[in-house]
Amino acid sequence: MRLKDKVAVVTGAASGIGKEIARTYAREGAKVVIADLDQKGADAAAAELGGAGRAIGVAMDVTNEAQVDAGMAKAVAAFGRLDVLVSNAGIQIVAPIEDFAFAKWKQLLAIHLDGAFLTTRAALRQMYSQGTGGSIIYMGSVHSKEASVLKAPYVTAKHGLIGLAKVVAKEGAKHGVRANVICPGFVRTPLVDKQIPEQAKELGISEEAVIKQVMLKDTVDGEFTTVADVAEAALFFAAFPSNALTGQSLVVSHGWFMQ
Ligand code: NAD
Repeated sequence: MRLKDKVAVVTGAASGIGKEIARTYAREGAKVVIADLDQKGADAAAAELGGAGRAIGVAMDVTNEAQVDAGMAKAVAAFGRLDVLVSNAGIQIVAPIEDFAFAKWKQLLAIHLDGAFLTTRAALRQMYSQGTGGSIIYMGSVHSKEASVLKAPYVTAKHGLIGLAKVVAKEGAKHGVRANVICPGFVRTPLVDKQIPEQAKELGISEEAVIKQVMLKDTVDGEFTTVADVAEAALFFAAFPSNALTGQSLVVSHGWFMQ
């Protein structure tokens, strides 16, 4: 029970990586708020974790200031405090830069960067007023460190999250608030499953080749990272007991990227 009596908000937790982080936190004793654009999915994920008293779903578009502030207020109203924010909601859009629609570029940056900023600001206001510290975790990617073709806004946004985490680490220190980034390799979630045929089409290769020659080519063992692997790292950052671990990024990618 490494998160007993802690309260965590996880964005984008109706699906994929965020859903597994919510499950892991609940298993470790936390009360969890599942904040997602997909309200039905968020409510269903919360029900799986035991429902009212243990987990709630909150409808939240992380790019919408009013919805983020209202969602965070609902979280605090339900559980009385906030100790952990996992800013995880994200999308992927692949295209070469010369064909990238400006609206799509802005949509992706808004979800990853505006979303991280707005949820961080709301969380810090609550954590500072509580005076009991906290942990803010951003879902970066190997693309916070490396580039790939067809992913200009994603690589830009994921690099940007490392900058934000470092500022939050510095500003949050005197309040006992830590900020860190998890950088996963490819994980089989709906976000990745959607990309496989899209990349196959853009690159003119088979879906099998996208997996073997693009996604897993540089891993040490040709394996996908799993949602459980990423959730374990998210637990480590959430439960870490002091300011010693802050402003860091941890790559969980089967050795695709080594620092
Ligand atoms: P997913 O598609 O399974 O889940 C993403 C969730 O985010 C969905 O529930 C979706 O409804 C929600 N969401 C989308 N836009 C939103 C918005 N505006 N407001 C609130 N919620 C919104 O994807 P995933 O693979 O679990 O991705 C989660 C995070 O992990 C993303 O930030 C992604 O970039 C990152 N990531 C994923 C991989 C991977 O290989 N899957 C690798 C590295 C990083």
